[in-house]
Amino acid sequence: MSNHVNGVNGVNGVRAVKPVFPENAASKEYAASLDAADPLAAFREKFIIPSKANIASKKLAKPNLSADPCIYFCGNSLGIQPKITSKYLEATMDTWSGIGVGGHFTKIEDSPLEPWWLLTDQAGTSMSKLVGALPEEVTAMGTLTANLHMLLASFYKPTATRHKILLDWKAFPSDHYAIESHIAWHDLNPKKSMVLVGPDEGEYQISTQKIISYIDQHAKDSALILLPGIQYYTGQFFDIKTITEYAHSKGLMVGWDLAHAFANVELKLHDWDVDFAVWCTYKYGNAGPGSMGGLFVHEKHGKVDYSQGEDAPQFRHRLTGWYGGDRSVRFKMDNKFKPIPGAGGFQLSTPSAVDLACLCASLSIFDETSITALRQKSIKLTAYLEYLLLKDTDDETRPFQIITPSNPDERGAQLSLLLKPGLLHGVANKLQEASVVCDKREPGVVRVAPVPLYNSYSEVWQFVELLREALRE
Ligand SMILES: *Cc1c(COP(=O)(O)O)cnc(C)c1O
Repeated sequence: MSNHVNGVNGVNGVRAVKPVFPENAASKEYAASLDAADPLAAFREKFIIPSKANIASKKLAKPNLSADPCIYFCGNSLGIQPKITSKYLEATMDTWSGIGVGGHFTKIEDSPLEPWWLLTDQAGTSMSKLVGALPEEVTAMGTLTANLHMLLASFYKPTATRHKILLDWKAFPSDHYAIESHIAWHDLNPKKSMVLVGPDEGEYQISTQKIISYIDQHAKDSALILLPGIQYYTGQFFDIKTITEYAHSKGLMVGWDLAHAFANVELKLHDWDVDFAVWCTYKYGNAGPGSMGGLFVHEKHGKVDYSQGEDAPQFRHRLTGWYGGDRSVRFKMDNKFKPIPGAGGFQLSTPSAVDLACLCASLSIFDETSITALRQKSIKLTAYLEYLLLKDTDDETRPFQIITPSNPDERGAQLSLLLKPGLLHGVANKLQEASVVCDKREPGVVRVAPVPLYNSYSEVWQFVELLREALRE
């Protein structure tokens, strides 16, 4: 087993220094001083933070701008709306009303948007920076589950001897169903071909060592492993680099579901040699409910080889549609499929320009900073949350347990608090009454995600005060 399995090189090749807070860090003034020194603080102004009044009354005050904002710690579920999104939407509507079908190919002066047929490239280029990929390795299309199906169709090629898929024991239901149905689609038995990778009894986190032992145990008859980059329930960030390398050494295809990792943590999908990945963009990506998803296909799988002739392109098998066809010949209508090299060649249909406008709008904000800068703040913001939650308490008496790893390299923005039995509903109600938006997951977890783009240290401070009050009652 290689060295980094034992953590010599940290997780995913990095080892962050865990922030240490001084004696006076629990004061409101200290939180304010962190905000004053925050180089990303101005980004908050680019978002519309739902107001307390809107949330309490369930009616929308107009204009819907953030007078007295709520504490929104739910970016892990649905990111909030960038102010710029309505401008991008308006530009799209204006192009459509102004020139109709010409919008496909015409670059409109002063519009922040490319012609519609190039919009997936515009979105793909921005997303590639967030996931550490070449621009050609990323495209925007469909939604996460649909994209997972598309890529499983290309990457899951079971044989009589190698048919198993290893997946997360608590996989998000959609991932579980998608995998189960692919196995059945190949006339195999999910009971025999699905291997659930889980932690030790009574534990929540799964060590890299443990995942590797599952790979060892099943490698002989396994075809593929698909894990979440960040586990949605516990918030654990897996060692994608090490796991990918190890699974490859045993001949498995490696896919990652990055729903909770995209725009949250630093990724290097190309360098880590990941085969494929999918993500949604409405969580940390802020592109809006049900927004267009993203996918990654490693360069080595996206090649198109013309060595056997112009009319005989060789490429990885996939389910195809005309939008994956090379642009230079897409409109020839000769029914000779030549894929766009890279992830673009996995596209199917004319994508929604409206959806792409929302996605490009939110990505334009990420383009103004970097995932490295965001992650730096995120590590500190979440460490501050953890520090305040644990201060002056002990494991015996604390009414909750943080089931997210305490090592910043093994988590993103989110902390999952497992409350003592019976507390969840009361606490969730109290938080809601106080206009705190975070989400609960049965049986007993509150997920709290301060997001570096729009949340502040002062909000973290306030949140902990409100949570303590809710727990006292
Ligand atoms: C949010 C999430 C999804 C959502 O899938 P959609 O197809 O976008 O509805 C899937 N998998 C995981 C792990 C998620 O966290």
